Amino acid sequence: MDSNSRKPKTRSNSTGSGFKKREPRHSSAGRVFRKKVCRLCSERLDGIDYKDRDRLVRYLTEKGKIIPRRTTGNCAKCQRVLVRAIKRARHAGVLAFQVEI
Ligand SMILES: [Zn+2]
Repeated sequence: MDSNSRKPKTRSNSTGSGFKKREPRHSSAGRVFRKKVCRLCSERLDGIDYKDRDRLVRYLTEKGKIIPRRTTGNCAKCQRVLVRAIKRARHAGVLAFQVEI
């Protein structure tokens, strides 16, 4: 590996225009950040029913675990409502506590 083969970073220094181009932001690790939107807020539901299995299943893993907020992008308020609904659904037998593969 020779260091000369590396491409120099091309960075357009267009300052002063005031217009920001919409580009996906990259972290130092090279991953693309995407703005997560709380799907439950965007749907404007006033609550989640524990009997609404199709909706609850979207927030569960294959094994039946609840997907964390950092992954789904839910807001804290909705996540609390969601978790309560999932736990109720499990107790009522709508969802499984764990799925054995
Ligand atoms: Zn929300």
